[in-house]
Amino acid sequence: MTGTQIVLLVFGTVTAFAVGSFLCVVIDRLPLALNEPNEYGDLYDTRPWNEVLGGHSRCDECGEPIRAIDKIPVLSWILLRGRCRGCSERIPAFHPVVELLTPALFLAAVWAIGWDWRLLPVLGLIPAGIAVSVIDIRTMIVPTRVVWPAFGAVVALSVVTAAIEGEWSWLLAAATGLAALAGPLFVLWFFLPSGMGFGDVRLAVLLGWTIGFYAGTRPVAAVLLAVITLFFAAVIGLVMGIAVMGARGRKAKVPFGPALVMAAFLSIALAEPILDSFGVWALS
Ligand SMILES: [Zn+2]
Repeated sequence: MTGTQIVLLVFGTVTAFAVGSFLCVVIDRLPLALNEPNEYGDLYDTRPWNEVLGGHSRCDECGEPIRAIDKIPVLSWILLRGRCRGCSERIPAFHPVVELLTPALFLAAVWAIGWDWRLLPVLGLIPAGIAVSVIDIRTMIVPTRVVWPAFGAVVALSVVTAAIEGEWSWLLAAATGLAALAGPLFVLWFFLPSGMGFGDVRLAVLLGWTIGFYAGTRPVAAVLLAVITLFFAAVIGLVMGIAVMGARGRKAKVPFGPALVMAAFLSIALAEPILDSFGVWALS
């Protein structure tokens, strides 16, 4: 590694810890519990962004503002033994998990992809994927208020990357990946709306674009990677379903968003060996 790369890695890791703390605020405040299910049968709606980001962080239970010393990622949660300093109410365990997972996935992405400009859109996807997954697990909704801004950001990062590399065909591969991942899920949702929410289709738009862009110059590689992602998502979803139903009973609802996100990350990490083994050489 060069000196510049080490500096980038350290700066990126510190930033990722800060992003993880920010994601905890989003996960905590974005979902708004409803008194009765809405027209889609959801028990949660989402708050507007100005309400999510405005004001001080406070304890949900006693309203005590959270002190700066209690905002250190992971460490504060451990020192407080997972409880509020004021009222001893439990601080949900997703806090340290998200605060650790964000820098861990950042480092994993750098390790798996290397110093390639195509790292950029993937880094845009990581925080969105984490926020959506944890919110989906806690509330059974895939928030549009996260998915569409994240899609906008990832598309912008893709255009920047394509411009830097002079590889405009990557954008075509991205659009192909989007269609190949979201298309089948849309058909599934259309004929079997009880099996999956439309939020998962929107999520597939975001994931499919990123996977397709990463697959590179050939649309056929984007399609293959999207199909592999669907396969991974089905397997992960099945395992999660069995685990959730085993723990909470047969009628328990199982979120599909985390399975889709995990499958997408797995496909990106394994893109090179997957495409190689199918003889679709795309990554240069
Ligand atoms: Zn409290």
